[in-house]
Amino acid sequence: MQVNFYFHIAFLFFLISCCSSSYVNRYLKMIENGLSEEIGPCDNFFRHVCPMDDKPYLMKVLTDEYISDLLNYTKTYEPKYMKINSDVRKHFLTAKFQVSNNFTNIISSNLKTICETNRAEFNSYLKKLENFWDKPCIGSTCVSQISEIEDCDRALDFVKNAFSGIYPSDEFAGLVEKKIREFILAHQVLRNYEWYDEHRGSYQKFNETAQEIIEISSKLLEDTPWVNRLNLTNIFVPYFEQLHIYKPELFRDNIIKYLDGFIGKYDKCMEDNAFPEIFSALCYANVLREVETLDLWITWNAGFQALNMHPGMVFSNIVVLLSQINLPSFYIGSVGKVVAHEIGHSLIISKNQDFIPYYSNETTKCVQNQFEKSCEYFQEGKCDTIYSRYDDNGADLFASFIISELLNSHFGADKNNLVEGTTKNITNAQLAFMASATVLCEKVPSVTQDLEHHANVVRINSIMSQNADFKEAFNCPDNSKMMLAKNEQCHIIGKDAPISRF
Ligand SMILES: [Zn+2]
Repeated sequence: MQVNFYFHIAFLFFLISCCSSSYVNRYLKMIENGLSEEIGPCDNFFRHVCPMDDKPYLMKVLTDEYISDLLNYTKTYEPKYMKINSDVRKHFLTAKFQVSNNFTNIISSNLKTICETNRAEFNSYLKKLENFWDKPCIGSTCVSQISEIEDCDRALDFVKNAFSGIYPSDEFAGLVEKKIREFILAHQVLRNYEWYDEHRGSYQKFNETAQEIIEISSKLLEDTPWVNRLNLTNIFVPYFEQLHIYKPELFRDNIIKYLDGFIGKYDKCMEDNAFPEIFSALCYANVLREVETLDLWITWNAGFQALNMHPGMVFSNIVVLLSQINLPSFYIGSVGKVVAHEIGHSLIISKNQDFIPYYSNETTKCVQNQFEKSCEYFQEGKCDTIYSRYDDNGADLFASFIISELLNSHFGADKNNLVEGTTKNITNAQLAFMASATVLCEKVPSVTQDLEHHANVVRINSIMSQNADFKEAFNCPDNSKMMLAKNEQCHIIGKDAPISRF
């Protein structure tokens, strides 16, 4: 499998039931009530939709509801998975969920009790420890020599010394820590899968949207001058048609394989060493050191995830959930945009390899200049337009273009009609654009979090400045801040794109 991920947004989540008009109104009302009275859509669109105040906002409310609902989904939690989950947490996590090698203290204190109550058993345990670590033992691992020491405190000092040499804290801050965190997340993936399984009806609609965007993209590619000039249509269109959404079963099955493998290794370790229960953490530590890293498979639904691993794409429950809000224009701006963004990654450059090195230098410059200009106008913290963000910047601009395409094909002239139930005269087109800001809402200063994405305020305002339908939908005057922050028009794809790639 080609590994090429594009993590983005990191938090959208939500609710379950839908579709009765009272629920529809609830979502619409939440968006309407959240709009800023002071900041207009043409001044700073992101902050118009997501002002920095204390009002509850859609994604936060939905996230909380989703997380509490998740607790009801534990079907795949077979007792064997439950047990290793609670064992590993007990031995390797502190009360504050920090990874620790505290298990050595737990074992030492158990050994001390045995030393004080049953010396013969204690001595046999020392021998087991020694054989487990090294045969023949070397230096501090030769713990059976201390069986002669009468004072249990002193004897245990030797054991603790051996533990600290064999399980150094810095190892726990490195590789083993990563494995422990993956192990904990693996259990969350199973629970999230259960949730998905009960809501899989929405997946159908979701898949259809992806297909629709792929078809639109293929047609746009056919119209793109440099594709035509070089006669590359027969390469690019099939390339696009390979795109598809991975079924979450793939992730569930891999996690189960991983957990079963984990249990198998653990059981073998306990059996081979004839370990009593008090040494179980030693086998867990061994397995954690050896076990494969999960990387890819924990990404599904360990939080919000959408990624492109061309030709497969992955979307977590939240996107499935978003598709249940029965407001068609909201759907286009939220689900449609997230799906289009990921598809956009197959069109633009890729970090690990170029599938289609599509961008022309002219387009690259245009995109980067636009984000830089939005940084100047809207930044709320550090803002720099580095090249590593260009892939996501392009995907964002492409997605904004697709919002317009979907709006026009689904609504036509009706896009300027009012949304049913609106109390603030919101039109379908306006709601679609608002939806794309809503899913990235944050009530704290929006700042750059990583090397791939600009701050959300910059991401949203950049693409809206560039979108002619946004200007029309909100009737933004040319001298408004959103319009002044527009750089020249960038063309990612379609008939206006450059004729040359270079
Ligand atoms: Zn991305």
